[in-house]
Amino acid sequence: MWDLLFENKLDNIIPEDRIFRDEPMYKHTTFRIGGPVGRFVSVTGYEELRDVISLCKEYDVQYYIIGNGSNLLVSDKGYDGVIIEIGSHMRECFLEDGIVGSPVKTPWIKEGEIVGSSAGVLLSSLANFALKNSLSGLEFAAGIPGSVGGAMVMNAGAYGGEMKDVVSNVTIFDSNSGEIRKLSVDEMEFSYRHSIVKEKGYVVLAAEFKLQKGDMADIKATMDELAAKRREKQPLEYPSAGSTFKRPEGYFAGKLIQDSGLKGYTVGGAQVSDKHSGFVINRDNARAEEVYRLICDVREKVYADSGVMLEPEVIMLGEF
Ligand SMILES: Cc1cc2nc3c(=O)[nH]c(=O)nc-3n(C[C@H](O)[C@H](O)[C@H](O)COP(=O)(O)OP(=O)(O)OC[C@H]3O[C@@H](n4cnc5c(N)ncnc54)[C@H](O)[C@@H]3O)c2cc1C
Repeated sequence: MWDLLFENKLDNIIPEDRIFRDEPMYKHTTFRIGGPVGRFVSVTGYEELRDVISLCKEYDVQYYIIGNGSNLLVSDKGYDGVIIEIGSHMRECFLEDGIVGSPVKTPWIKEGEIVGSSAGVLLSSLANFALKNSLSGLEFAAGIPGSVGGAMVMNAGAYGGEMKDVVSNVTIFDSNSGEIRKLSVDEMEFSYRHSIVKEKGYVVLAAEFKLQKGDMADIKATMDELAAKRREKQPLEYPSAGSTFKRPEGYFAGKLIQDSGLKGYTVGGAQVSDKHSGFVINRDNARAEEVYRLICDVREKVYADSGVMLEPEVIMLGEF
């Protein structure tokens, strides 16, 4: 039961058309899985974000930030709290510390080869913006279906590139102190599919990328080549959250899974992809519970066969 005062205050922060009640999360995840969330709000900028978080804290309501939902498995029971989406509606940019720039949705050239982007921008749009400006460095990221914010959290990477190689700084909102700060790459403590953001409860607002002047045709050729590789190797025709497991040191998750005879292994509507064993796909209206059981089975069998315990890369939200 939601507190009426909470509801009224939320209505005063976010216009009605950006608050969704009992919103099914399958609509907001690339896995196309997930039950209802108490309140789903899509913010346009920093002030809305700050006010929703402080309201949740005041009423002791749990909240969770999402970007494009491309690395999330949300429980069938959903999430009893507020999901705050920093995605397609997020317009504000942060040109300097604490200064909210003019509302822009697309990335922008700050100076020379430095490109800035709001957290809600998709990596594909950012990479295409770089391409149009003959800036090289983000080719590897064009096919990762996440937002800039999510990519900062995960230190997203592919084909030998990682966010940490191209980021120059990240603007965050510290929900504990209420401050906006610009973190250097060192302060972000990037490592494999990790940064400091989650540990500290930060919210990513924007990031700047240091790119290099390049040749537009070469940049395009690299992007096309990597996109073709993805189409060839990955089961993009099915909903998923990308690689289900992190790469264990010295191994490849997909190879271990395949060696355990689990290619095509199915639990209900969830399946270890035939095309790429590192991907669990939503083959046929899978429930989160089925994906979860499949993940547990895979971990158990691979561990028994190889002694390697696979760690999920996919983030699970809600009760499992
Ligand atoms: C087909 C497919 C291919 C993929 N390929 C790759 C790949 O090659 N490389 C790779 O690294 N990943 C890959 N992924 C996984 C995914 O796209 C990345 O992890 C991406 O960085 C997640 O971004 P997101 O915006 O979707 O984050 P979400 O899934 O929405 O969230 C991920 C985490 O980040 C947090 N978060 C999101 N935005 C913010 C914010 N603004 N501030 C604070 N916290 C935030 C969330 O709370 C959550 O913990 C793939 C996924 C799919 C479906």
